[in-house]
Amino acid sequence: MKKLVALTLASLMLLAGCSSTPKNDGNEATPTPEAAATEADVIVVGAGGAGMTAAIEAVNAGKSVIVIEKAAMTGGNTTRSTGGMNAANTPEQDLIEFAEEAGVEKMLASAKENYPDLAELTATVEKQYEEFKANPTGYFDTEELFMLDTLVGGKNLNDHALVEVLANEAKNGIEWLKTIDANLSQVGSFGGASVKRIHKPVNDEGKTVAVGSYLVPKLTKAAEDKGVQFVMETAATELVVTDGKVTGVKAGDTTYTGKAVILATGGFAANTEMVLKYKPDYKGFVCTNAPGMTGDGIAMATAIGADTVDMEQIQIHPTVSQETSALITEGLRGDGAILVNSEGKRFFDEVGTRDAVSAAEVAQPGGFAWLIVDNKMVEASSVIAGYIKQGLTVEGADVEALAAAMGVDGAALVETMDKWNACVEAGKDEEFGRTSFANKLDEGPYYAIKVAPGVHHTMGGLKINTNTEVLDASGNAIPGLYAAGEVTGGVHGANRLGGNAVADIIVFGRIAGQQAAAYAN
Ligand SMILES: Cc1cc2nc3c(=O)[nH]c(=O)nc-3n(C[C@H](O)[C@H](O)[C@H](O)COP(=O)(O)OP(=O)(O)OC[C@H]3O[C@@H](n4cnc5c(N)ncnc54)[C@H](O)[C@@H]3O)c2cc1C
Repeated sequence: MKKLVALTLASLMLLAGCSSTPKNDGNEATPTPEAAATEADVIVVGAGGAGMTAAIEAVNAGKSVIVIEKAAMTGGNTTRSTGGMNAANTPEQDLIEFAEEAGVEKMLASAKENYPDLAELTATVEKQYEEFKANPTGYFDTEELFMLDTLVGGKNLNDHALVEVLANEAKNGIEWLKTIDANLSQVGSFGGASVKRIHKPVNDEGKTVAVGSYLVPKLTKAAEDKGVQFVMETAATELVVTDGKVTGVKAGDTTYTGKAVILATGGFAANTEMVLKYKPDYKGFVCTNAPGMTGDGIAMATAIGADTVDMEQIQIHPTVSQETSALITEGLRGDGAILVNSEGKRFFDEVGTRDAVSAAEVAQPGGFAWLIVDNKMVEASSVIAGYIKQGLTVEGADVEALAAAMGVDGAALVETMDKWNACVEAGKDEEFGRTSFANKLDEGPYYAIKVAPGVHHTMGGLKINTNTEVLDASGNAIPGLYAAGEVTGGVHGANRLGGNAVADIIVFGRIAGQQAAAYAN
């Protein structure tokens, strides 16, 4: 079995052009393979963030749990996640100063102009904002503004009920993570969010660290400590249905039997054939995902009549290194980085939504851009230090030297940087309408990373309700079958906001574990 799985992954990697090495700090947890029991109250398929969160919550509700994972390590794409987790109305936000008036006003104007269907929600947010301005205490963010950002970002294709749960429960997810010793204490800006909402971990020196390689070992340890049994290097292939109820999972010759099954197998961005079926235009794009993201859960569930939603909604991310397929986190732009084209000129609001920034980038000469940071940003982030260590950057002691290393016109880049620093000082970007500025880019050495879009996230997937029950084509819940995380569709609509997927896996992973446990009573 192990050999077969290894061969399968290798061939998938070749097919998908996906990198085989997880981009983490070497912290992945590797539970001891153990295949003694084949029966438990709840069977979870996939040991990524959603699966392990669900497993922990099911055990917390008093149930026995087996997690089946096809890779040799826990984590999946969750290990690769870098930026952080969105949550509104948190105590962490109240520790920072509110200076995002322009972001809120821009969102309200955009929602009014483009989304009349969201008029009621927009009016609620406007009222909340007026009340805050009249009596400014703490930081301004609300669950309703989180919803509005997510719906506008997702072009209002999202399932509103799921988005409401996401927005209301994310702050509880941040608190829940503290119970497994995970503290996302730093709050910052990210694309498509009107205010500072993304929650990130920091190391002992106070530097930002990647969220996934921070969370995965903690989730794995918590699950192991609570007695979850992991069955590693074992790919589930089929759901078992008895008298109309899902009662287990087949993996090769072994059947794992349970009262409920949770699918948490992640998305399908690494399955080139499946991506091109829905988006033929993405032929030749690199992919940021772990190689195992091949849509297995979608195949298993649709084989027994599950419905899917938004399958053609596949996100490309604008800042991917084309040589290594490594994603360069949006957090850099949130923290002040700019994008310039091969002529050394800015061309778009860098913290716009991913679809919009990607489209603007593709329209530039050569279809690529340079992401620029300065030494102050490097000093504050071990994530950027990691990019430098991986050889992803070119460097210059001053802006002219950086331009030479990038092969762009020095005078043009100096003019761009001067103009940008004036925008930061004024808190206004007349040319492209960016509303989050952070600090000036004015301390050498300067660094640039060459980036272009890559296939990143599959917004579509299994159709679920707010209890994470998987629905059939008639909208009825399939008894005993639950799903959470990137295997599902509907939360993110036509475009996922950065930070919303980690919120998704924690919020809906928890619900899946609780609901499956209740069903298994
Ligand atoms: C480079 C990168 C950076 C990202 N950064 C962020 C970020 O900063 N913030 C954010 O919100 N989102 C981010 N995302 C998105 C986010 O990480 C994912 O959407 C999310 O982690 C998916 O979690 P999941 O639990 O649903 O799936 P995964 O974490 O992918 O886990 C799925 C697991 O299921 C296993 N599996 C699959 N098929 C089978 C099978 N047949 N049998 C057994 N096991 C199976 C896989 O091996 C895997 O371990 C990023 C994604 C990438 C790729």
